[in-house]
Amino acid sequence: MPTEQLTRPDDIIQPFRIDPFALRGRLVRMGPTVDRILSQHEYPEPVATILGEAITLAVVLSGMLKYEGIFTLQTKGDGPIRLIVADVSTEGAVRGYAQYDAERLETAQSRMNGANPSVPDLIGGGYIAFTVDQGEHTERYQGIVEIAGATLAECAQHYFRQSEQIQAGIKLSVARSGENGAWRAGGLMLQRVPPEGGYVQIADDVEDGWRRAMILMSSATSKELVDPDISAHRLLYRLFHDEGVRVYDTHPVEARCRCSRERIARILLSFPADEIEDMQKDPVTTVTCEFCNTRYDFPAAELERLAQA
Ligand SMILES: [Zn+2]
Repeated sequence: MPTEQLTRPDDIIQPFRIDPFALRGRLVRMGPTVDRILSQHEYPEPVATILGEAITLAVVLSGMLKYEGIFTLQTKGDGPIRLIVADVSTEGAVRGYAQYDAERLETAQSRMNGANPSVPDLIGGGYIAFTVDQGEHTERYQGIVEIAGATLAECAQHYFRQSEQIQAGIKLSVARSGENGAWRAGGLMLQRVPPEGGYVQIADDVEDGWRRAMILMSSATSKELVDPDISAHRLLYRLFHDEGVRVYDTHPVEARCRCSRERIARILLSFPADEIEDMQKDPVTTVTCEFCNTRYDFPAAELERLAQA
């Protein structure tokens, strides 16, 4: 395994395999990407952290799917954070946002007395949905799971056990460990992939290999996952070198929203005629993108022109 390749150190999905035990994994390291998304809004710390985790989880999961389009992870709950959306395009464009109730969040935080808030504390009861949208005229894939677990990683593991019958381990970490307190995120996923034609080795070995790999994976600390001084290769080598880990080409990710003036205009014009007329009574209609916080102003005259076009 190469020690330190001249590869992009951050904002990557690093696939790897542990062939003797038919294990596949991905390590996600994000710096500027996650910092940019979380800094576009003034989220309270717990909201930014869990949104960062959701984004990281979406990136980790998108790396295991074969799709052309958009992969979306959404949480909906009755807790202080009503909604979290994170999506990843095939090209690696990532974005996300959260909707929360500031008052309820404060109440929940004061109740926790400085302890780390769990998913039930922040999101409450509800569900997580995973959607793959490959564009018009294709079937959408959607998986839904009830929120069950203290962390988003646990919720995702639960989902795989329940609906996909896949054995998988997931670790997520988000912290202000970058330069000047910039956000960083790390995610690690390991899954069992029974090879076609069955295992080459005897089953006991494979079972042991899986258990050992899971123990090694859990030895990765939250701090290591977001440490800018530990490269993806170094971390994987430290964890799995005895198991014969092999790394593959990385895929880049970056913070990029898909909103545009044209898209927003199209959404506005899809409203019923009387609502569009109402909008035209205001001198300027302003729409702010929930994902990236970009403001789009549409003067009444422009709306009128668009509506007639
Ligand atoms: Zn946007």
